[in-house]
Amino acid sequence: MRLIVACSQCNRQFDASGYEVGSRFRCYCGEVVTVSQPAAHEAAVVRCSGCGAPRSDGPNCSHCGSSFAAYERDLTSICPRCVTRVSDKARFCHSCAQPLAAEGAAGELDDRICPACGGDQRMHSRRLGADLSLLECSGCAGLWLSSETFQHVIRRAEEMVADVEPNADSERPAAAMDQPVRYRPCPECKALMNRSQYGKFSRVIIDTCKQHGVWLDEGELSNILEWVRGGGLDQSRKAVHEARVQELRTQQLGVSLARNNEWRESGSSGAGRGRRGSLLLNLLF
Ligand SMILES: [Zn+2]
Ligand SMILES: [Zn+2]
Ligand SMILES: [Zn+2]
Ligand SMILES: [Zn+2]
Ligand SMILES: [Zn+2]
Repeated sequence: MRLIVACSQCNRQFDASGYEVGSRFRCYCGEVVTVSQPAAHEAAVVRCSGCGAPRSDGPNCSHCGSSFAAYERDLTSICPRCVTRVSDKARFCHSCAQPLAAEGAAGELDDRICPACGGDQRMHSRRLGADLSLLECSGCAGLWLSSETFQHVIRRAEEMVADVEPNADSERPAAAMDQPVRYRPCPECKALMNRSQYGKFSRVIIDTCKQHGVWLDEGELSNILEWVRGGGLDQSRKAVHEARVQELRTQQLGVSLARNNEWRESGSSGAGRGRRGSLLLNLLF
């Protein structure tokens, strides 16, 4: 049987046949969709399941020629709009004419275990556009991305950097940062992952296995992408640069002070002004 689930935000439909009732996955629009098994009902065939046209007299649709009887047999799918039992083959609901077009499977069950839920909670693989895929836990809605996929997603977000003032001081709920630290096993190698704040200032703590990838709890990916689109990475790079410059200045200061002391100990004068002058320069620039 085909389990079609629609996103409540954008109405995209997914084939969630491999999912248990109550499990969750993320729609392309970002909304988390919960798989439910609605109490389906039977409804009279008032629409053609092949083209959605109103039912005409006779055994076949006068628009597309489909046999009405053919679609009345295997009523094992459910219309996500009006919860009528419909045929697996139906392209339209025979009651409300809702097009039944799942954009693809919600995901296939993978062998890897969710690092947050543990136990035997396996993850589902999901396609991300044409070329990427990730794993998603249907229990906690967390995401596992390979290092390459994560970099790719970040790069895409950076290309879309919006013309908005970077807002590093925004009051992002830092709930994850307050929670007790729990190290999680990498789903590939089982080694405990590193926890770190992404981009130093994003306020999102991510779990990373250097070898294999990144684990993101529910909502963390969208928080990171929002931060990146707001120019967060640029700001972070600048801050790292500033810190490096500061460090070099401090080192130079150390060298200058040492020289200064040498000069004092040697007791010579004359060149002193120049030295002091360059110390000041070092401090200023
Ligand atoms: Zn959606
Ligand atoms: Zn028809
Ligand atoms: Zn319907
Ligand atoms: Zn989980
Ligand atoms: Zn690993």
